[in-house]
Amino acid sequence: MLKALAASGLMGCPACAVVASAASGTDADWSYEGDTGPGRWGRLDPSFAACGTGRRQSPVDLAPGTAVAPGRLDLSWRAFPLEVENTGHTIQANAAPGSSMVLEGRRFELAQFHFHHPAEHTVGGSRHAMEVHFVHRAAEGDLGVVGAFLSEGTANPVVAALWEDLPAPGGRRAGAGLVDPAGLLPARRAYFHYEGSLTTPPCSEIVSWVVMMDPVAVSRGQIDAFARIYPSNARPVQPLNGRPVRRFL
Ligand SMILES: [Zn+2]
Repeated sequence: MLKALAASGLMGCPACAVVASAASGTDADWSYEGDTGPGRWGRLDPSFAACGTGRRQSPVDLAPGTAVAPGRLDLSWRAFPLEVENTGHTIQANAAPGSSMVLEGRRFELAQFHFHHPAEHTVGGSRHAMEVHFVHRAAEGDLGVVGAFLSEGTANPVVAALWEDLPAPGGRRAGAGLVDPAGLLPARRAYFHYEGSLTTPPCSEIVSWVVMMDPVAVSRGQIDAFARIYPSNARPVQPLNGRPVRRFL
């Protein structure tokens, strides 16, 4: 079914450049269920050890706490040419250089954004339909990831542009238009902030997390379209182990 959907997507996009890129051959196979699922990631490959033994793992439950104001987050994003990749684990939009974020005085460059269904972070135990992660890289190599929850409502134009003619797993598609990542952010920039990890192997503990409090609307059809390809690509929440979760309004 996955292959059929992907194939129809390719055939429906004659004007798009489709580049089949080989899946990364360096990592062990991992998934979201069974023998290669999240509970076993740490044992699949020595380089994945942090998934099992790390003490600062993500995602986490973001319990409402004391508000700290104001936040020190400055997003300088701009629209870039659409390039959609189906990584085999998610749908991802690769960013062109030029979009950045300054968080607590440190500068990070936007590399890509991608999606999870259902959301990975929970808030007081409740979970949104989806979550988008904007992955930024600092010159030193560590990451600043901005997460935004997606919940059912009106259709989102950025998602519409991405979902159109999705490539097959391992494939990449360059579209004709521009994509504006800011179209996937809520109007109010209130957020949670904590120190954590990648939510996929190798689960490296190098991520400064910003998770927006207000969800962004996407349509039921947009959620369902993603879920048909990736029914569940969310890692279970991990223990905080005493880490503070700060709330900025
Ligand atoms: Zn993610």
